[in-house]
Amino acid sequence: MLESTRTKYCDNCRCDVEAKIVERNSTYTFKGETFEINERVLICSCGEELYDEVLDSETMKILTRMYEERIGLSLKDIKTIRNQYGLSMELFARILGWSKSTIVRYETGKYIPDSSHMTILKRLKDHPEVIDEYYKLNKHKFNEKEQEKINKKLSNTDEIKVEKSLVDTLNVNYKLNEKTIESGYSSFNLNKLINMVLFLPKRVFKKTN
Ligand SMILES: [Zn+2]
Repeated sequence: MLESTRTKYCDNCRCDVEAKIVERNSTYTFKGETFEINERVLICSCGEELYDEVLDSETMKILTRMYEERIGLSLKDIKTIRNQYGLSMELFARILGWSKSTIVRYETGKYIPDSSHMTILKRLKDHPEVIDEYYKLNKHKFNEKEQEKINKKLSNTDEIKVEKSLVDTLNVNYKLNEKTIESGYSSFNLNKLINMVLFLPKRVFKKTN
């Protein structure tokens, strides 16, 4: 059973009080997004709202979860997104026009990105190749040696994209297959898939640098 009261010092009453835990609807602006949430807070009988660490972190958890859901990106995916390029924190950050300390704080969970940065990270997760857009914008800020290194790393992005499209295709085919087996017709076309594996990388994803 959830506890319904907590002993806390009330600044208004100037003594320890038995404060009530109350549920209420609140509106929060969190990382540039507005959320309506149902939270639990501690209220003294005098009406004063008292700070409670446990209830406060409960509210933060709700907000973070809703935020991740709205953007469509989990905070723990941030490191994976950079790793798919094989780029160092510094190079990755500079390509996006961010400071290195920004990406360090994101990846270590010390700071939650605001929604504009989260949207960029979400784009990179869904479409890894869009990193080229950001790189083009900031390319002049890198010296020749760095550019060479980045070009090498980013040429792998084509493979990531192909892998992703293959997984998507497999999923679609698998679902189609599941549906049609009962009706006696299988639409799972293995040859088509094999052809995709063999030809997609060379034909569709040839880069122009
Ligand atoms: Zn009070």
